[in-house]
Amino acid sequence: MADTNSETTYTLLTEKQAAIKAKCPRCRRGDLFKNKMYSFKQTMYDRCPHCNLKFEREPGYFYVSMFVSYALNVAEMVAVCVAIYVLTGSENPMTYIVVFLMATIILSPFNFRYSRVILLYWLTPGLKFSAEKAKDLPLDAQ
Ligand SMILES: [Zn+2]
Repeated sequence: MADTNSETTYTLLTEKQAAIKAKCPRCRRGDLFKNKMYSFKQTMYDRCPHCNLKFEREPGYFYVSMFVSYALNVAEMVAVCVAIYVLTGSENPMTYIVVFLMATIILSPFNFRYSRVILLYWLTPGLKFSAEKAKDLPLDAQ
């Protein structure tokens, strides 16, 4: 006879899906951010709404995400400059500067969000997915 207690009422995301959707790295169910990526202001939850993981692991923890954001920005700059060269063949430096500054401004919410996601998912030792934490909460804990 099948064990009915092991049935899940939710879809468990893979690590990549959870990172793209900016979910908690431990339970992959709670959101990291209160707002959508292109809302006026992006604010993070202090703790995971599902498993209560404290996202800011230590004081100043998210300063490290500035380095991740910098790396993302450099990669985007190279991609944008190569795209401009391939598409237009322009040799005017102002074209590159203007387009790159516009791309930086447009992509800054993306960089802000995913630098923190990359930091939490792949650059934090000891923070792993826990199938136990992903389970539905008991009714008295909700
Ligand atoms: Zn969680």
